[in-house]
Amino acid sequence: MEPYDVIVIGGGQSALATGYYLRRTTLRYVILDREEAPGGAWQHAWDSLTLFSPALWCSLPGVIMPGGKEHYPGKQEAVDYLTAYEERYQLPVIRPVEVKRVNKENGLFVVHTNRDTYYAKAVVSATGSYHSPVIPDIPNKGSFKGRILHSAEYRAPFRGKRVAVVGEGNSGAQILAELSKVTDTLWITRNSPEFLPDHIDGKYLFDAATQLYEAKQRGEELQPPSLGHIVMVPAVKEARDRKVYQAWLPPFDTFTPDGIAWNDGRKEQVDVVIFCTGFKPSLSHLAPIFNGHKITTKGTRALEADGLWLVGYGSWTGFASATIIGVGRTAKRTVEEIIGYL
Ligand code: FAD
Repeated sequence: MEPYDVIVIGGGQSALATGYYLRRTTLRYVILDREEAPGGAWQHAWDSLTLFSPALWCSLPGVIMPGGKEHYPGKQEAVDYLTAYEERYQLPVIRPVEVKRVNKENGLFVVHTNRDTYYAKAVVSATGSYHSPVIPDIPNKGSFKGRILHSAEYRAPFRGKRVAVVGEGNSGAQILAELSKVTDTLWITRNSPEFLPDHIDGKYLFDAATQLYEAKQRGEELQPPSLGHIVMVPAVKEARDRKVYQAWLPPFDTFTPDGIAWNDGRKEQVDVVIFCTGFKPSLSHLAPIFNGHKITTKGTRALEADGLWLVGYGSWTGFASATIIGVGRTAKRTVEEIIGYL
């Protein structure tokens, strides 16, 4: 197969934003996505997931997401938006193609997939984190007779069950909001939950973080606001009014056959435990290049692998790059760097 100039691995917002800038060049490129359909991770999210920014601030370069300044889009709107985006720009996505491993031979990247082997002068990894959920290792998981799942697998409430929700981020708060309408719930958090004031949403956080980031570029040491605190989207406000978030318990120490227990003797019977405990970047396909070493980057460029960029994995690959509104900026700079490299 003739080598491509660039292969983009992934097919979510990060890959599409990179594709948007690549299509404005003369470079020969392709996007490889393991999903059956467009939409990246959003297509797997639970039905009631609500984005934390109004639609106008959930846009990739080139097309504004419909919905305006007041509407918080749901996950299906994100899927529809990305599907239309891909079509509008005729981005060359091949799916389903899962990249198993990438290595370098004679100066070319060899991209091994579950279908064909591809070759490229440069590679952009934009695989997100959905396929790498993090669940803490808690003793006696095997003895628990109920169901343990990660927020990545959550779809709809467990009507009539007693459910423990673990995690004080946006996923935990939104899932708790939905479950608490039809089930008996317990909230387990490592830290006290931090709720943002009602008027602060993802747009505000992005603008504030941009200003602080720019100050940092000028040499001032400031900490950007956290995107991890709970944003008061309408469903969370409604749950707060029902007093859903008034009590929480510290992390439990062990599973028991019918629930969870703490070292101080406390026990709770539960049928389901949902871990809303985050994700780590899905990077196993790059293992042959890095051999177990930590991947270091300057912006999105991998420092120890010439010709490799990583887009969309969060602050270590570009400020706010794990958000729809933030990834465009790092995708643009990535393509500029690729042009310089090639
Ligand atoms: P993904 O959407 O995960 O896309 C990566 C793609 O790569 C997927 O299609 C995947 O299947 C594919 N892939 C993975 N591995 C391989 C491989 N080896 N070979 C081929 N393909 C592969 N962001 C916002 O901007 N606003 C929000 O309100 C917001 N809310 C969020 C709420 C929750 C609960 C979560 C979890 C995230 C939220 N985010 C939000 C964050 C962010 O937008 C998403 O995580 C986003 O999906 C990241 O996009 P991505 O393209 O980098 O990764």
